[in-house]
Amino acid sequence: MPELPEVETVRSGLEPVLRGRRFLHVEQRRKDLRFPLPEQFAERLTGRKVLRLDRRAKYILVHLDDGAVLAIHLGMTGRFSVRHNRKTAQLGEYTYAHGNDAKHDHLVFAMSGGAVVTYNDARRFGYMTLIRGADIAQDAFFRGLGVEPLSDALNATFLAGKAHGRRTDLKAFLMDQRIVAGLGNIYVCEALFRARLSPFKGAATLATTSGRPTAAAGRLVDQIKTVLADAIRAGGSTLRDYRQANGEIGSFQEAFAVYGREGEPCTKPRCRGTVRRKTQGGRSTFYCPICQR
Ligand SMILES: [Zn+2]
Repeated sequence: MPELPEVETVRSGLEPVLRGRRFLHVEQRRKDLRFPLPEQFAERLTGRKVLRLDRRAKYILVHLDDGAVLAIHLGMTGRFSVRHNRKTAQLGEYTYAHGNDAKHDHLVFAMSGGAVVTYNDARRFGYMTLIRGADIAQDAFFRGLGVEPLSDALNATFLAGKAHGRRTDLKAFLMDQRIVAGLGNIYVCEALFRARLSPFKGAATLATTSGRPTAAAGRLVDQIKTVLADAIRAGGSTLRDYRQANGEIGSFQEAFAVYGREGEPCTKPRCRGTVRRKTQGGRSTFYCPICQR
C-alpha cells in the first residue's frame, strides 16, 4: 500500500502536466473503482482547469477552477502513467511505456498541453470523488483526520497532549489516523527505530504527569519528519513494483533500517542487536530489541 511519501511523489509527478491545464477529454471506462464514481464524473471534469495540486494525508487533491476538488486515493495498486508525445524535455521525463495490463486502465484524462494521464488500478481499492472545496474539512473522507506529519501542527506539545494518559502502545498511537494522518506501518517502524523507542512502550510515556512533552516526544517528532522527508526526496517506495509517476522505481526501500530486515544485524553503529519482527495490531512490527527502549 503506498504510504505518504509515495503519494507525494505521485502528486509532484502529476503537477507539471495537470497544473494550469484543462481536462479536454475524460474517458471513464467503469462506473466505479472502490466506490462508485460521482454522477456525470467525466462531464463535470471536462473543460475544467486545474488550479493546483495538494496532498492531505494519502489523498491527492486536484483543485479545479469551478471550486470543486478532485480527491484521489490510490488504494493498494492505483497508479498514474503520463504520456506526452511532444519533445518537451521536462514533460518527457514523465513519459514511459506502461507495461501494466491495459484492461485495468479505468480513466484516461487528455489534458490541454498534450499530456494523456491514465489511471490504472488492478485491485481497484483506489477511489476518486469530487468535493466542493469549501466542504472538504466536513467531507466523510476527511473529517476526523489528524494533523499532517510534515506540518508545524505535529510538534512535541501536540503529541504529548494526545498521548497523555492514553493506554495504548506507541505503535498503535502513531498508526491512529485521527492523531497523525498518513503515517503507515513502514514509516512508523522506521521513525521509532530512528528515535530509539520501543514500539511496545506505552504512548503515555511521551508526556510527563502534567502532560508536558518528554525528550522522547521531541525526538520522535523530529524523526517522523526526517524519515518522511528522506523518503520523499528518494522518490518513495512501498510496494516492490510501486512506480513513481514518471515510471522510475523508488529507491527508498533499500534504505529502510528495520522494515523488512528481520534477522539482519541492527544498522545502528556499535549496536549488536538483531532486527526482530513481531505481529502487533495485526501488522508486522520490525524493531531492534537492543537500541529501542
Ligand atoms: Zn540496535
